[in-house]
Amino acid sequence: MEELLNTTAAALKKAALNDDAKHLVLNNPALYQVLKKAADRYIGGETIEQTLVKAVHYNREGYKCSIEFMGENISTEFEAGLATKEFIKAIRHIQEQRLNSTISLDLSHIGLSLSEELCRANLEAICQAAEEANIEVTISAEDTYKTDKVLITYIDTAKIFKNLSITLQVYLHRTKDDLHEIMKTSGRIRLVKGAFETPPELALPRGSKLNQRYLDFLDQLLQREHLCSIATHDPYVQNEAKALIKAHGSKKEYYEFESLHGIQTERLRRLKDEGHPAKLYFVYGTQWYLYLCNRLAEYPQNVFTALLDIIGLDIRV
Ligand SMILES: Cc1cc2nc3c(=O)[nH]c(=O)nc-3n(C[C@H](O)[C@H](O)[C@H](O)COP(=O)(O)OP(=O)(O)OC[C@H]3O[C@@H](n4cnc5c(N)ncnc54)[C@H](O)[C@@H]3O)c2cc1C
Repeated sequence: MEELLNTTAAALKKAALNDDAKHLVLNNPALYQVLKKAADRYIGGETIEQTLVKAVHYNREGYKCSIEFMGENISTEFEAGLATKEFIKAIRHIQEQRLNSTISLDLSHIGLSLSEELCRANLEAICQAAEEANIEVTISAEDTYKTDKVLITYIDTAKIFKNLSITLQVYLHRTKDDLHEIMKTSGRIRLVKGAFETPPELALPRGSKLNQRYLDFLDQLLQREHLCSIATHDPYVQNEAKALIKAHGSKKEYYEFESLHGIQTERLRRLKDEGHPAKLYFVYGTQWYLYLCNRLAEYPQNVFTALLDIIGLDIRV
């Protein structure tokens, strides 16, 4: 069974990055409609308005939120501009509704693959609007061939905007050194294990070594009271993180536990009920193909849940 699940995960990770498959699913009305039923479990909605309804609900329940307009690797300056406008619109909505929510984004969604200058200009426009609204902006981590550009853009922009945060993928071997550099900035560091198919010479697979590395990095952040986000659904890592928080006597303003909407939310609720800051991450938009593939790949049993969602059966697998 384990071998089957691993093969499924590898296939889904490849499918996630296949542009032809993405184009087919998102542009064929029948496929879009059917697979969207599986995506609905994870996404906030197709629009910011639909997502805000959920964010309002979870804010009332005591969760912080993070909202991302989905998309990556756009191919024209026009598309990068449209995405930038959408992020600024989301910021204005969060401000108007006085929500406790941050914004997350992929730099390739606002032009990184086209031109670093364009991307920086768009990021600065978003950070400016967010700073005026007192909202934090977090840069997501993408496929590892983009990591250098993403981190350099973050380091430079974080010198101007104190409301900018960054995501680091613990599975990458390089992250040990990156963490050291990034800790020189003051922005929050979100630790994730990493979602992309990456060769073993560049990254650790899931397992005890990766968990230990995650906890080592977190230990360094908590020890230095560096703002951080513990972004994992792994109950082992969450429990060990709680022990580290206790050992360091970490104050709540320095850390938060963060989960993706639709995934192991009951674990996040328990952390919240125990008094830890808890944040739910929402994505919205129509470009949900990559996001859905990643959620299925990282936990292939979700393929069965997806099938049940598609046929409309509400049964736990
Ligand atoms: C807030 C947030 C932001 C993220 N941003 C990025 C990013 O910018 N770049 C990036 O590469 N990755 C990102 N990720 C994804 C991350 O890298 C992992 O792929 C994902 O969180 C799964 O790893 P894990 O740490 O949760 O645990 P894993 O080691 O993958 O799994 C441990 C356990 O967690 C539970 N679990 C994990 N995933 C699922 C799932 N899909 N469905 C049900 N249960 C599950 C299961 O119980 C599983 O046994 C983000 C994750 C979060 C929570």
